[in-house]
Formats: sequence, C-alpha cells, structure tokens
Amino acid sequence: MSTVAVRYTAAAVTDRGRKRPSNEDAFGYSVEDGVYVVCDGMGGAAAGEIASSIAVDEVLRLLCARDRQAPLPTVAEEAISAANTAIFSRAERNYKLSGMGTTLVALVVEETHVWALNVGDSRCYRLRAGRLEQLTLDHSLVEEQVRLGRMSRAEALRSPMRNMITRALGTQNHVTPDCFQFAVEPGDLFLLNSDGLTRELSDEKVQSILAVEQPIADRCTRLVEAAKKAGGHDNITAILVQAVA
Ligand code: MN
Repeated sequence: MSTVAVRYTAAAVTDRGRKRPSNEDAFGYSVEDGVYVVCDGMGGAAAGEIASSIAVDEVLRLLCARDRQAPLPTVAEEAISAANTAIFSRAERNYKLSGMGTTLVALVVEETHVWALNVGDSRCYRLRAGRLEQLTLDHSLVEEQVRLGRMSRAEALRSPMRNMITRALGTQNHVTPDCFQFAVEPGDLFLLNSDGLTRELSDEKVQSILAVEQPIADRCTRLVEAAKKAGGHDNITAILVQAVA
C-alpha cells in the first residue's frame, strides 16, 4: 500500500444564530500541530461560554503538545480528563457556574491518517468523492435508542428528547471520549460542527454545499448561512479541514 504525504488547510466560522442571546460554542485550531476542536457549552448565565472555552483551550493546548510516540487514544483521554477537571474546579469556585458543561469534537491529523474524537453530540463528518459520511457517533439519548433499534432516525429528529446528551465535559467525574482512526486520502474534506448546524440542515444539504468546488472558507460561510436561513435556532459552528496532495 502506498502512502501519499498530505498537507492540510482549514477554515472556521462560528455564529450566534438568530434566536440565542449569546454564543456558547467555541472553537480553536492549529494547522501546524494538526489539531482542530469544536465545543458546544451549556449552563445558565455565562456558564456555557466559560465551559466551552476552557475545554477548547485545554484540549487544544494538550493535543498540540502531545508526545507523538504515545498512542493517541491515551493522549486524548488524558486531555479530555484534564479539561473535565478544569471545568469542574472552575465551577466549584463559583456557585453560579455549577452544572456547566460542554460537548467536544476534535480532529487530530497526521500525514497518512486522522483521529476523530468526541464527547456529546458535536460531530465530525468526511466528504470523500462527493459523498458525506458521519465519522462520529452522538452520545445522545435518541441516538442510543436508534442504535438499539428502539427508535427510527425520523422519530429521533422529532423527539422532544433530542437535546439530551449522555456524555459531556464538566458534568461527570470521569468522561472518556470515543476516538476513531481513519486513513486519509488527498482531497478528503473534514467537517467539525456543533449541533446548531446539523439540526437545521440535512446531511444531503450539507453534502450539496460541501461538494461545490470553491475555497473552503466560502463553503464554511455558506454552511453557516444556510443553517441561519433554515431557522438558526441554536449557535452554529463549523470548521473545515481539507487534505491537499
Ligand atoms: Mn448547540
């Protein structure tokens, strides 16, 4: 099997949307270190914003400084655990922040493969040869019901429980991410997003926007604008990462 060295380019947009008073999503990335992170915070007052920004800062910092010889799932678990503790201890010092939490989705890229890791319902997708595929599995009540065959995909989308996530940073003593590895091919386009994007847009719609050959910054903007046009009920964040030969 031959391996082709690739480099990566990225673009990101975050938007408050049209209904929420503030933006509790956060993102950060380093093209140089190959780390991309999106978080979707929750909690009263400013708590959600604080939780998501702590998680982005901690996880980005730790993954950028990672030991490249160590297995990434272990490194990721340690980074998630450190971010979890940081959110917890911040909430302990201020009762107004108690109960705050955040989802997290991250992509760590190497020359021949990528790692997608997540906690909660922020997602990672890959567009390859014009076809969109979700790489992460949501940690949500309805997604688990769908996987157990107790609920259809259509029922899940309409369920009043669709917002309930089963894993988050800052709300549990221990949290472990799912961490999956994928071989990369030149041209692969990865999307990291908060639920505010994919709650408004079907996978088919996301695919049709991403498949248009134009600069990824433009595709990123078009995704977020389409989600706002479709309602913009939640904060919307998207990062696009493209593997270039
Ligand atoms: Mn959200």
